[in-house]
Amino acid sequence: MTIQQTVVEVNLKNLKNNLNFLKSKLNPNTLIMGVVKAFSYGADSLIIAKELEKQKIDYLAVAYASEGLALREKGILSPILVLHPQTNDFNTIIEFKLEPSIYSFRILKAFTSCSKFDKNYPFQIKFNTGLNRLGFHENEIDTLIARLNGLKPTYIFSHLGASDDENEKDFSNDQIKIFSSLTENFQNKIGSKIKRHLLNTSGILNFSESQYEMVRTGIGLYGFGNDPKYKNDLRPVINLKTVISQIHKISKGGSVGYNKGFIASDNITIATLPIGHADGISRQYGNGNGNVIVNGKLAPIIGNVCMDMMMINISKITCKEGDPVIIFDDKNLSAEDFTKAIGTIPYEILASLSKRIKRVIIT
Ligand SMILES: *Cc1c(COP(=O)(O)O)cnc(C)c1O
Repeated sequence: MTIQQTVVEVNLKNLKNNLNFLKSKLNPNTLIMGVVKAFSYGADSLIIAKELEKQKIDYLAVAYASEGLALREKGILSPILVLHPQTNDFNTIIEFKLEPSIYSFRILKAFTSCSKFDKNYPFQIKFNTGLNRLGFHENEIDTLIARLNGLKPTYIFSHLGASDDENEKDFSNDQIKIFSSLTENFQNKIGSKIKRHLLNTSGILNFSESQYEMVRTGIGLYGFGNDPKYKNDLRPVINLKTVISQIHKISKGGSVGYNKGFIASDNITIATLPIGHADGISRQYGNGNGNVIVNGKLAPIIGNVCMDMMMINISKITCKEGDPVIIFDDKNLSAEDFTKAIGTIPYEILASLSKRIKRVIIT
């Protein structure tokens, strides 16, 4: 395919492959929740949600109510868990049949006191088992059950804080133990079995014995595991590609970009690319830290990344204006390697990919 502008390619074949690989780690009756928050980690939540529905996903999850509403407005019908509702979201949540995560007494009150509230409306309860981000603490169960006043959640869940980290196995196992005991306690006190979910992608890969009735997967769907050994099993869904807009010859001593961010120590050739901060390329990639691929070769990003453009050194590469450039993809340079150069992780760059970049579906 010829590239004429910056594009995010969304590879649905890889998405399907990743879903099937993750399924292979699970019992056949364990449900799967596909996490499509943050525009599906930059891919495009509508494209991904549609494909996941085609693959018979059981649940979807978003971070905020507005993300769920956007999917409902485009015809997505699956149950959608809203992980982090805010107090003024509940009428919207109910109007659009989203399922809120209730993670604090303040949020429980906002839910039960909103004007559209109905005592049979489905909701889930989030427990904090060690991440210390959101959720009720184990010692709040009695008060929680009293305040629920007979309401029953569809699911109770928690989130692992270090499931990707080999060195923190004890921490994860402690979280699993706490979850197991508090859910049992909750079920006993509420007087019925409530379904549970705990594992995220690296939880599925490293602690699959704790899969309970459902698991939640985000990054794995998009092609990243927590270990290089999954390289062949999980395939990146998102390729970020652009094109050479213009080529310049710079004489020794000449500067490139704002504030003369780069000074040529030789006669060099540079190329300008139509992608910058506003597209998700942070400033740290500049000044030689990040590299992109032009005609199979690494080209360093030089000078300061601009809002809408950046420049690369192509002195050693045969190329011309209009040639394609790979920022990261599933073959030449992974998002993992691209982001490692500035000490960050694929989650961050994927979630930063601007909506102004065109999405192109690959099947
Ligand atoms: C984002 C998120 C997930 C998905 O995690 P991955 O590591 O991307 O699989 C799961 N659960 C919660 C609560 C999250 O916030």
